[in-house]
Amino acid sequence: MNILESYDSYSGRLVTGEETVEGRVGAYLSIISARKNLNAFLSVFNEESLERARGIDRKIKNGSAGSLAGMVIAVKDVLCMKGKITTCGSKILEKYESIYDATVIKKLYDADAVFIGKTNMDEFAMGSSGENSAYGATKHPIDETRVPGGSSSGSCVAVATGMATASLGTDTGGSIRQPAGLCGIVGLKPTYGRVSRYGLVAFASSFDQIGPFARTVRDAARVLQVIAGRDVNDSTSAHVDVPDYVSGMKRSVKGMRIGLPKEYFSDALNSEIRAVLQKKIDTLKSAGAEIVEISLPNSEHTISAYYILATAEASSNLARYDGARYGYRSPQSKDLQSMYVRSRSEGFGEEVKRRIMLGTYVLSSGYYDAYYRKAQQVRRLIQNDFTEAFKHVDCLVTPISPTSAFKLGEKMDDPLQMYLNDIYTVSANLAGIPGMSIPAGTDKDGLPIGIQLLGKQFDEATILNVGDFLETVN
Ligand code: GLN
Repeated sequence: MNILESYDSYSGRLVTGEETVEGRVGAYLSIISARKNLNAFLSVFNEESLERARGIDRKIKNGSAGSLAGMVIAVKDVLCMKGKITTCGSKILEKYESIYDATVIKKLYDADAVFIGKTNMDEFAMGSSGENSAYGATKHPIDETRVPGGSSSGSCVAVATGMATASLGTDTGGSIRQPAGLCGIVGLKPTYGRVSRYGLVAFASSFDQIGPFARTVRDAARVLQVIAGRDVNDSTSAHVDVPDYVSGMKRSVKGMRIGLPKEYFSDALNSEIRAVLQKKIDTLKSAGAEIVEISLPNSEHTISAYYILATAEASSNLARYDGARYGYRSPQSKDLQSMYVRSRSEGFGEEVKRRIMLGTYVLSSGYYDAYYRKAQQVRRLIQNDFTEAFKHVDCLVTPISPTSAFKLGEKMDDPLQMYLNDIYTVSANLAGIPGMSIPAGTDKDGLPIGIQLLGKQFDEATILNVGDFLETVN
């Protein structure tokens, strides 16, 4: 069995009986235990996933199986699954058991996917390296002295190594696309509002989106197909029809207009990354796409705007962890005040505390106008830049990350360096547009380099089509 095969290529063999879901789950479980040192999972559903696989095998046999029958999925530990622990990578939720299923979980379950476990992540999805987890850092699958990217570190590593067919991550400022780029797989952040956030533990509610990691664009499209759509439990999920993504993949880019934002290809861009991207751009050109240089003039403000707005929202969302209702309560507390202070001080990690303080500061009266309101205005300007660009082009091509996978510990003492790593990804979240990372090549050390495709709001179909084309024309 090829453990790294895509769902699209093995699912046919499940139907003919040459392979079983149980066999595949068993193979993934053995990789999970063989590569435990990567620290990709926080909980593994050993018996339960095998049991479920046997049930799906029976459904496949009698012809009643759903559209993702036998796809094996790992879930970022920020999504609620009824009866399961949801830690969010934090000590404060170490024992928190979810009392309901997230909408995405319910939908995938109904499509007959199998869940294999919950994955490691930066605490409350705050980070770009996977090192901020209270349960230890996740390691890069090719070089264990390096980071796999974050915050959806475990979900990415699970798919890159053959511990699952696909996985769910969340992307508030790049947390699906950046690790996908660093580990050489596909990661898709849908349009804000495309996928219901019901049952996703909130970090920054106006940015967060759930999306898939997969080994092929087609597999990512299949997952999106199932999880997309309006949900009455999330008022920000959009009333927008969901097209048939796979049949929309024409394997052609002829006549398309593809934009290159000049601010993303400045002299500061690493030369190896530039060379890898240029090859892909040449491929698109020779297949009949028109490559157009465009400008996103407010690009230089994206990091500042993101880290003001996302921390502001986080400081408010994380106020609920107070030791009273659920989660960790300090045994040291003597009265109400000390219970709040001690539970939060002992329960949250350094980066989360830094964000709560930053967010509280930018929202405080006296600073609100100078920081929060200003950043909201800048967000609008960034959105306008994209609206203007998409009048002239169908999608954009950009780098995904300023470097390939960096060393563990390299940026941990310098938060600003860590934040700057998100320079190419946060704009999609500020603008609410869809973005996808696909493998583009490797650097001189054999580490993966990704390429990012950005689309118009609710036009995942176009970037999926271009991504599928690039993946199949090598
Ligand atoms: N790296 C970014 C941050 O730390 C994005 C995180 C995310 O997308 N969840 O905020």
